[in-house]
Amino acid sequence: MQQSDPFWASPVDHLAKVRPDVPTFYACPAVLQSVAREFIDGFDGLVTYAVKANADPLVLANLSAAGVTAFDVASPYEIDLVRANCPHAALHYHNPVRSRSEIAAGVAAGVASWSVDCDVELSKLLDILPPHSEIAVRFKMSVSGAAYDFGEKFGAPADMAVHLLRRVAAAGHRASMTFHPGTQCADPVAWVSYILGAADIAQRAGVHIQRLNVGGGFPAWRNGQRPALGAIFEAIKSTAKAAFPYRVDLVCEPGRAMVAEAFSLAVQVKSRRAGALYLNDGTYGALAELPVVRGFDRVHVVAPDGTPKTGPTTTFAAFGPTCDSLDRLSDRLTLPCSTAEEDYLIFDGFGAYSVVTATRFNGYGASDAVLVQNL
Ligand SMILES: *Cc1c(COP(=O)(O)O)cnc(C)c1O
Repeated sequence: MQQSDPFWASPVDHLAKVRPDVPTFYACPAVLQSVAREFIDGFDGLVTYAVKANADPLVLANLSAAGVTAFDVASPYEIDLVRANCPHAALHYHNPVRSRSEIAAGVAAGVASWSVDCDVELSKLLDILPPHSEIAVRFKMSVSGAAYDFGEKFGAPADMAVHLLRRVAAAGHRASMTFHPGTQCADPVAWVSYILGAADIAQRAGVHIQRLNVGGGFPAWRNGQRPALGAIFEAIKSTAKAAFPYRVDLVCEPGRAMVAEAFSLAVQVKSRRAGALYLNDGTYGALAELPVVRGFDRVHVVAPDGTPKTGPTTTFAAFGPTCDSLDRLSDRLTLPCSTAEEDYLIFDGFGAYSVVTATRFNGYGASDAVLVQNL
């Protein structure tokens, strides 16, 4: 993402004057910082940011300016990115599968916390980590409420988690626990179940855990509204207090909910044929995750001069710019009938899993970033 310097008033202000013909992200630092403060003020513990949701330096710098002091990273590349932009931040390396060389890179960078979900990965960590490192055992339960479930890929079942916790403690490291309830999880009960599960596992293991990381998964826009995070924060706090007979420090690592609202994406209609639009971005670009997680209820159309398109709507098939036949949105878009070549489609709530997933397949996928005062 290339970034413009001056602030524009709004996406439409920029579109109408510049008429960009590459996909353009509109980033609002004020929104980034206010959401970060909502987490810091509302969550009863340490707020870390999961860098994979949007690794743009602009995001890291604004979250840091708002008071985020720790970042969840998944690779040496993300470690370097955070170090370059926020040199004093704490790093939590919570991708539970790492090569030995990746572990060594994390140690060299001073990673403060590691996660683990199986014996072989723990053995690697025990071989390489310095004494008294924090190792958080990641466990999984079957809990519903998320858009898709992370437990399919990572997380130890309860019995294995008991065993891993004992191994961590026996090796003299600091034992913690972590889980991820699944992304776009709007139901506080998912966190309640997981926290009760964590307390049960720790008790069975006979291990006093130091910290409990309640993951990401906090919801961004869902079913036509921005879910309130307060009920989730409250449920986490009161459940953790009641479930553990001793004090456990809480940590969270939101990705999506931290950045989604701070960006809108404008894509241009390159061509219109009967019932189909050919866009300048698609599933190999920033629209990759659109069919999986997002609703299609947050797109609006403006003419090249910035005038909103209104009036009766119809549905369009939507194709991306590459010559690949898979480059097509899975759902049809409902847009004004008058949508035409050179119009812009503006997708709101587009800061998470968009900039970071774009590829340069077929020569497309480059985008500009423009700073705006308001979205
Ligand atoms: C992806 C990820 C997150 C962030 O998840 P969101 O659903 O975007 O909040 C947090 N922690 C870990 C370990 C992750 O892999």
